[in-house]
Order: sequence, then C-alpha cells, then structure tokens
Amino acid sequence: MTLLTLDRLALAIDGRPVLRQVSLDVAAGEAVGLVGESGSGKSMTVKSVVRLLPPGATVGGTVRFDGADVHALNAAGLRRMRSRDVAMVFQDPRAVVNPVRTVGDFLTEVLRDQGMPRGAAIEKAVRSLSEVGVGDAGRRLTQRPYELSGGLLQRVVIAAALLTEPRLILADEPTTALDVTTQEEVVAILDEQRRLRGTALLFITHDLELAAAVCDRIAVMYAGEIVEILPAARLHDDARHPYTRALLAARPGAVAPGQRLLTVPGTPQSALTAPAGCVFADRCPHAEARCRDERPVFTGSAACHLLEVL
Ligand code: SF4
Ligand code: MG
Repeated sequence: MTLLTLDRLALAIDGRPVLRQVSLDVAAGEAVGLVGESGSGKSMTVKSVVRLLPPGATVGGTVRFDGADVHALNAAGLRRMRSRDVAMVFQDPRAVVNPVRTVGDFLTEVLRDQGMPRGAAIEKAVRSLSEVGVGDAGRRLTQRPYELSGGLLQRVVIAAALLTEPRLILADEPTTALDVTTQEEVVAILDEQRRLRGTALLFITHDLELAAAVCDRIAVMYAGEIVEILPAARLHDDARHPYTRALLAARPGAVAPGQRLLTVPGTPQSALTAPAGCVFADRCPHAEARCRDERPVFTGSAACHLLEVL
C-alpha cells in the first residue's frame, strides 16, 4: 500500500525554483533514501511533505499522505498529521529539545497533549527510551539536554519520534552532527526500531552507502530533481545515471587510506542555476549537445538521454 506519494512536486521560493517535477512513492513500512549533495533539494522535499515551508513558497504538483492531499489539509488535519502520523528527526537534536526542560517533560508532552494521563505517559516514555538504548531510562527522564551527549540526545529524539507510533519517519541527516561510531549506532537504532514497528522511513543523507545499508530503495537528487530511483540492493550493479555513478565513485570507501576524499568533479548546481536541459549537463562526462537543451524525461528508473547506451 502506498503511504506517501509525491507527484510532480514543484517548489519555488520567492519565484526561484527549488524543486522541479519530483515524483516519488513510499509504501507503508518501506524505507526510502533520498541522496544527493547539499543544495539538491532533499530537505525541501521532506519539508514539503509536512508543509514546513518558508514564507514566499509556492507549490505545484501534489503530495498525498494516506490518500489525503497534504497541501489541501485544514489546520486540524495538518496538526494531526504532524503530531501523530509523521515524525521528524533532524540533524541537530539540540535545536529540537527545549534546553531548560527535562527529557521526561520533552517525551511526555506530546502524549499528555493527546490526553494520556501522566502516569501512563511516563510509563510509555520509559519504555520508548529503553528501546533506543540510553542506559538507565528512569534516570534519563530527570536529566536536561546539556547533561547528555549529542548521540544520547539524538536517541531521545528518536524515542520521541516513535512515541506516537507514527506511520512515517522523516529523518533529515540525523547523524551528520555526530562522530562516526556514534553515527553508526544511532542509525542502527533507528533502523531496528522502525523495522520492528513497520514504520516507513524517508531518510535524507549525502552518504549513498549509508542510505543503501538501511533503505529498501534509493532516490538520487540533483539540482531539485530526482535523477534516478533504484533498489538499494542493486545500487552498485544497476546504477546507470552518470550522477549516481559519480557519487558511487566518490564514496569514501573508494579512496585509498590516507588519500583525500574524492568528490564529484565540477560545481554542484541548484534548481536555480542548473542548465535548461539535463540538470547534470555541466558536470557529466557523457554530455552531448542535446543534453544542454533538451530535458531528459524520467523513464523507467532514471532521467538521462543516454540510458540505453550507458
Ligand atoms: Fe549526462 Fe546527458 Fe545523461 Fe544528463 S542527459 S546525465 S548530461 S548523458
Ligand atoms: Mg539539507
């Protein structure tokens, strides 16, 4: 069953294009990775799902969640969606958790708002905390954010995200601010818990390998467009779009130890600066004359004029 559908989603902010024709489905219980360099529109795609858009934003196309047109929801419908059906985990947990209140307050607030009695809310918060591995859950409840490391606090945010038993988790670079070992642990917890519950996940990262490790499918974004969608398990064998291949070649694992991290040659484009034809034409090693003028249509699994020959 399809839970989330983006159909030719377009977004402009103050008249400047940010997203163009973004189409993507997420099935119930499915994990989809949204991968690309910064500025490719990953965060704005996810924000469009819950209508967290800046002033001056104009939206085209549709976003459907569980059949409902998100951009047509009234205030009550939108509140319900954000507080119950869809949970969000962002890059910096300290920006999310109120610094002066306790972890217990943070966790129980949303349940109390939904009318759950205090005792039951605390019980549920403790259970949720134990599931994300934070040591003594009872003690954590009394602590304040500054007493916890970034990794522990992000686990608290994940516990909070799971509390309302959402159907979809939107995770935007949830571990980028953490050190590498902690990153792996936090991603493993998120992955394990959402699988146990059958919660769908839209996972934003610039790390293709990480996305492939935890997701069922990968959508690769460039300059406000999705250029390729493929099963995570087939990433290395089936990637055909030149940008996906460039990302694969640039992954840290492809570099000998001690060597500098490879990057994709050329300057990343945004939807605003990208060429009129193929958005990747400036950096693509295979670009032909028509690539600059003629926009490739997304067919099958990717948008590229040369799919048949690459
Ligand atoms: Fe490269 Fe042309 Fe394909 Fe774009 S359409 S990715 S420029 S070959
Ligand atoms: Mg971002």
